Amino acid sequence: MEFGDGREQADSYAEQALELMRKYGIPPTPNNFTIWYAYAGEKFPDLRKALDALIANDEHFDAMQNAGLYDKFFSDADDGLAVHETGRRIEGQMARVLEMLGNASEGVDNFEASLKTGLGSIASSDGLTGIRAAVQRLVAETQQMQSSNKKLQEKLENSSSEIASLRQNLEDVQREAMTDALTGIANRKMFDASLRRAAAESAETGEPMCLALTDIDFFKKFNDTYGHQTGDQVLKLVARIMKENVKGRDVAARYGGEEFGVILPRTSIEDAHTVCEQIRNTVSTKRIRNRQTGEEMGNITLSLGIALYRKGEPLSELIHRADEGLYFAKRNGRNQTVLEDQLDTIEAN
Ligand code: GH3
Ligand code: MG
Ligand code: MG
Repeated sequence: MEFGDGREQADSYAEQALELMRKYGIPPTPNNFTIWYAYAGEKFPDLRKALDALIANDEHFDAMQNAGLYDKFFSDADDGLAVHETGRRIEGQMARVLEMLGNASEGVDNFEASLKTGLGSIASSDGLTGIRAAVQRLVAETQQMQSSNKKLQEKLENSSSEIASLRQNLEDVQREAMTDALTGIANRKMFDASLRRAAAESAETGEPMCLALTDIDFFKKFNDTYGHQTGDQVLKLVARIMKENVKGRDVAARYGGEEFGVILPRTSIEDAHTVCEQIRNTVSTKRIRNRQTGEEMGNITLSLGIALYRKGEPLSELIHRADEGLYFAKRNGRNQTVLEDQLDTIEAN
């Protein structure tokens, strides 16, 4: 990470960073140091604002929080080797284009010189033969220039389509790194990053944010009865239904094998309940049927738990409460949604 600060300034930022890290009990790892060095400097106003909000809210700078901050502000540049490699190839292509343009301008300069010489020899020639010879040379030079321009144009066209396909490749790699291969929805990596972002936004704006976790009921039995591949088709169906029932800013992700998570920013727990019930109802009323054989496999159901983010809490606690809701939904007969504030009631039953 290059900050470009002078020596004295860098010393002062580094000292401030170490002091702040000591104050908030943050281990001085290279990533954490990057965050707090940037905080001490002035080049990252967004980072400063976010950290000031976390400090004002007495948030814990635990490992998850620290990793989230680094991810949010600094990790774009190292999003995997594939991204790096594609970036390197784009740079290579750009260098080739620049070289071609350099060669072309050399060619144009030479052509200009030949024209001048040619015109000079026409002016100074005293007979038709001399003029004819000079004109012939000019025609030959012009034709050569035309053909090398044509070649250049072809090379530039090839290069620009190569660059376009590399850019597409880069976007694909970035998307794939965040997507679950089976279901096509967000994967665990995306889930973790989105949850950190949603929590930081909620801490900053004070808007509620909910997390729902869900697990398919008796899925082992389904797999045992109909086979793992059919089970995979059911996972795809559940993922599709989840995705169809959330809004653009919400994130539906495959959290684990047959467990999914939904992050609902700017959503009250009552509204999160409505969304989850919509998902649960849609799944439970779908009749599962083998398209090839026509075999009916009945219905599958989901159990869900929902928790509301509490400002300043570690995300592991939010996940734990949603998981507890899910666990109680299972114990209470499955095919239902349990909110964190229902836990006491159910426990008492
Ligand atoms: P419960 O109602 O208590 O959740 O019962 P369950 O049988 O669903 O129990 P559990 O959640 O522990 O089941 C996990 C099962 O999910 C084990 C495995 O058969 C299945 N599973 C996990 N990942 C995959 C996957 O990628 N594909 C398929 N087909 N099945 C999976
Ligand atoms: Mg499970
Ligand atoms: Mg299950």
